[in-house]
Amino acid sequence: MSTSPRIAAVPEELDFDAIVIGAGVSGLYQLYRLRELGLRVRVFEAGTGVGGTWYWNRYPGARFDSESWTYGYSFSPELLKEWHWQEHFAPQPETERYLNHVADKFDLRRDIQLQSRVASAQFQEETSSWDIVLEDGRRYSARFLLTAIGILSAPTMPNIPGVSTFKGQACHTHAWPKEGVDFAGKRVGIIGTGATAVQTIQEIAKTVGHLSVFQRTPNWCAPLHNGKISKAEMHDIQSRYDEIFALCRTSPGCYIHAPDPRKTMEVSAAEREAFWEKLYDSPGFGVWMGQFSDTLTDREANRLASEFIARKIRQRVKDPAVAEKLIPKNHGLGTRRVPLETGYYEVYNQPNVELVDINDTPIERITPTGIKTSDREYELDIIIYATGFDAITGAFDRIDIRGVDGVRLKDLWQDGPQTYLGVLVEGFPNMLMVMGPHAGLGNFTRTAEYSVEWVTGLIQFATERGVTRVEATSAGVAEWTDHVMALGQGQLMNEISSWMTGVNRNVEGKQRPRIMRYSGGHPAYREHCDAVAASGYRALALG
Ligand code: NAP
Repeated sequence: MSTSPRIAAVPEELDFDAIVIGAGVSGLYQLYRLRELGLRVRVFEAGTGVGGTWYWNRYPGARFDSESWTYGYSFSPELLKEWHWQEHFAPQPETERYLNHVADKFDLRRDIQLQSRVASAQFQEETSSWDIVLEDGRRYSARFLLTAIGILSAPTMPNIPGVSTFKGQACHTHAWPKEGVDFAGKRVGIIGTGATAVQTIQEIAKTVGHLSVFQRTPNWCAPLHNGKISKAEMHDIQSRYDEIFALCRTSPGCYIHAPDPRKTMEVSAAEREAFWEKLYDSPGFGVWMGQFSDTLTDREANRLASEFIARKIRQRVKDPAVAEKLIPKNHGLGTRRVPLETGYYEVYNQPNVELVDINDTPIERITPTGIKTSDREYELDIIIYATGFDAITGAFDRIDIRGVDGVRLKDLWQDGPQTYLGVLVEGFPNMLMVMGPHAGLGNFTRTAEYSVEWVTGLIQFATERGVTRVEATSAGVAEWTDHVMALGQGQLMNEISSWMTGVNRNVEGKQRPRIMRYSGGHPAYREHCDAVAASGYRALALG
């Protein structure tokens, strides 16, 4: 790509043309693209290393649930050719190595400032620029502020009394110690049974002395079917990358899995059973995303698909009472994120593993020696908090972001996010969200690449024309927000409490489900965004 002349319109007194927050999957690529434009860019990253999600979440068993070879960047043929994924669903260390390799290969580190958590960002009217302040007080300014802060990056501890009193070892899965934790022979308690907990539980169950799983809501889990990738297989994958990425572009979530066009009742009971068996026996998210097309909108279709998985759980868990507790009763298959697993249900057949249903016996407090429920105290050496995230808007809320007239983004979004295309917010000029709320989400790297490229196109457009202020209009925001809301109606997922509907019972004001994601599918999302770009961004206020 040719290098454009540097923006004439950015005054020298601004430190940078653009500041990017976050050096994860999207921030790294955003830096690469902006640098191609010849811009002065600085990335601020809170961690001591790059990788975002794959830097922080180093808990035992952490790995992709998306096929590794669909998750890598697609922009560099050389990178695609030289990187050999070792497993179909790569473990965290492999992905962290991959992202470090990317940072080195493209010489990204010289513009990344580590251990730099952004505390606040304030729009400056006179200069049409952003002032940002780090937690340690250092200040920087830039014309554009790009948030590449992820959708699951603000971890939350449970609102249970006594958390700080525990004298043993305690860790949240998101802030796992780099040196690891030795579980051999230890009495371990884990709170949470989401995708993170499922991966952790099935891994540590191999070595723990005793494990108590404190479950509030079971999820519908299904087999991952991971496997090593041989050299020959990797060569074959590499020869088909164009085809693989093209396939991802056609599916709603940018995965290789897409819904079966048939409706559940269009096929016989025997055919349905055979179809579900095939999905259950196949690797990856097919069991969620490859279901009959009405599974996530039609209650009866959803009930039947859920019953199939319930039967599997009953077959795999020996104690029928435990099996019943592991079968979700308050939501159907796929209406929350489906955790993929390897031997998760069989863990509950081990004599040293116990499932504690905290609906029956609520946790009263964390004590210095363990966890006290309404019926007894569990003495523990280690407590694991797999208690999730203040998702989607949480990472925004944790930065004091103020736009025109000092309006706080957190206040503006109190009743839910309002955006234009999930990228811009009215009253927050020159702030561009990479993978923001109400954008088309899915396979993270596939969707982040698109988001980065769209944002880069807008910045290029602005800089080449001497435009110093880029902003969403109130009509544009209203139209997009209404569109997202309308698309979300009738989706069973949007009725259910989960991080995907912005619910986190540990966070004030986030107790009820909201429509937080664009649910029209990524192809339609791209069509919208491409049309806006093709029109010369006429829907934006440019100054
Ligand atoms: P999560 O799905 O939000 O799960 C949090 C768990 O903690 C839930 O079981 C929740 O119970 C429980 N919990 C929270 N506060 C509690 C409290 N005060 N008392 C008792 N239980 C409490 O979070 P997660 O498991 O970290 O996963 C988040 C997302 O990260 C996943 O859905 C997935 O998208 C992503 N992820 C991806 C991968 C991968 O690609 N392989 C792996 C892991 C995670 P309730 O459900 O009752 O609230």
